[in-house]
Amino acid sequence: MNVLVINCGSSSLKYQVINSDTEEVLAKGLCERIGLDGRLVYQKAGCEKEITDADMPTHKQAIQLVLDALVNQKTGALNSLEEIGAVGHRMVHGGEKFACSTVLNEEVLKVVEECSDLAPLHNPANLIGVRACQELMPGVPMVGVFDTAFHQTMPEKAYLYGIDYDYYEKYRVRKYGFHGTSHSYVSKRAAEIIGKPYEELKTIVCHLGNGASICAVKNGKSIDTSMGLTPLEGLIMGTRSGDIDPGAMEYLAKKENLDLEGVMTILNKKSGVQGLSHISSDFRDLEAAAAKNDQGGIRALETYIYRVAKYVGSYAAAMNGVDVICFTAGVGENGPDTRKGVCDYLGYLGVELDDEANQVRGEEKVISTPNSKVTVLCLPTNEELAIARETVELTRK
Ligand code: ADP
Repeated sequence: MNVLVINCGSSSLKYQVINSDTEEVLAKGLCERIGLDGRLVYQKAGCEKEITDADMPTHKQAIQLVLDALVNQKTGALNSLEEIGAVGHRMVHGGEKFACSTVLNEEVLKVVEECSDLAPLHNPANLIGVRACQELMPGVPMVGVFDTAFHQTMPEKAYLYGIDYDYYEKYRVRKYGFHGTSHSYVSKRAAEIIGKPYEELKTIVCHLGNGASICAVKNGKSIDTSMGLTPLEGLIMGTRSGDIDPGAMEYLAKKENLDLEGVMTILNKKSGVQGLSHISSDFRDLEAAAAKNDQGGIRALETYIYRVAKYVGSYAAAMNGVDVICFTAGVGENGPDTRKGVCDYLGYLGVELDDEANQVRGEEKVISTPNSKVTVLCLPTNEELAIARETVELTRK
C-alpha cells in the first residue's frame, strides 16, 4: 500500500509518499508560504528536486498541487491517485484523549478540535490539512498520529505540575510532552540495533532539532519527558528558552514594559541558542563561531549542552539507571561536538564515548566503546515512516 504522509503547519505543509511494503519513499517535498505567494518543492525518488512558484491561497489548493505533482505524466511518482491507499496525518496535540493513533472520523475530529485550546498554533492547521485531504480524496482512509500520544503512559507524579490540583481538574493543565512519534521510533529502533528486548530496556532519547526534547523510556513506555503543556518547557532550543523561572517573566514584563504576549514572543522566538549567542539558531553557525573563539557561540553551546546533560542525569535517576542513550534529529544526528559535550558529563554513569565512531553524521551507529556501561547511539529519526507504519496498521483490512 502507498501512504501519503502529511505534516500540515499554519503556512507550510510537508509530505511524503511511502510504499509501506518496501518502506521506500516514492516522492517527498513541501509547500511553503501557503496563503502568501506559494512555493512547491517536489522530489521523486532518484530525481532532482523541482521547485515551482505556484499560487496556493489555501491549504486545499496546496494539497491539490501536491496531488497533481504526484500524478504528473512526466515526473509523477504515481500513475493515479487511486494508488494512495491511506493518508497519515501528523497531529500535534491529542490532550488526554489520544493515547495512540486513531482513524480520523467525524467524531474523532470533533475531539481533536476540542484539544485546539491546548495547541492553538498547531491543531487548527493540522485539521485544515485533514479537511482538505478529505475533500480531495473522498473515501480514502485517514489516520491521525499524535505527537503527545506516546507520553500518555507517564505516571501522575511525572505529569503533574506543583500547582493547585483544581487547575488540572478544571483545565487539564499538566505535562503532555511532544515529539512522541520520534521518541517511540528511536527507542524501539535502538532495541533492535543492540538486539535486546524493548520491554526490558531503560532508554533516554535526546531529540535535538530546532525544537528539542528528551524522553525517558522504561520497559517500552515513556515515563517522563522534558516538554510540557506546550513545547516551550525543557531544553534550550533554537529560539525557545526551555525551563525558566516564571518569576523572570514578570520581572522582564515590568522592565521591558511588555504584556503577556510580548513576554511569550521573547521566550518562543527570541531566546534559545539564538538569543544566547546573538548569532544564529543553527548549530553549524554556532560551531563555526565557537571555533573562532566567539564568546557568544561558546556561551550558547556550553549552556545548551549543560542543560541536556542535566536532563539525562535526572532521567537516569528517574529510571534508577540507563542502558541506552540515543541522539537524534538535526543536531543529535549531525553534531559530534554536541554529543561529545553531553557525554563528557556522563562519566559517572559509566558512559564511555568512542571518539572515532562519534564522527558519524546521519547514520545509525553505536558511538560508545565496548567497555561503556551505557550504549550510546547516533540514530536518525524517521517520523514519516513511523506515521506510515501506524497508518497501515490501522487501515489494513
Ligand atoms: P526541526 O525541529 O525543524 O525538525 P531538525 O531536526 O531538522 O529540526 O534540526 C535542525 C537543526 O539541526 C538546525 O537548526 C541545525 O542547528 C542542526 N543541524 C543540521 N545539520 C547540522 C550539522 N551538520 N551540524 C550541526 N548541526 C546541524
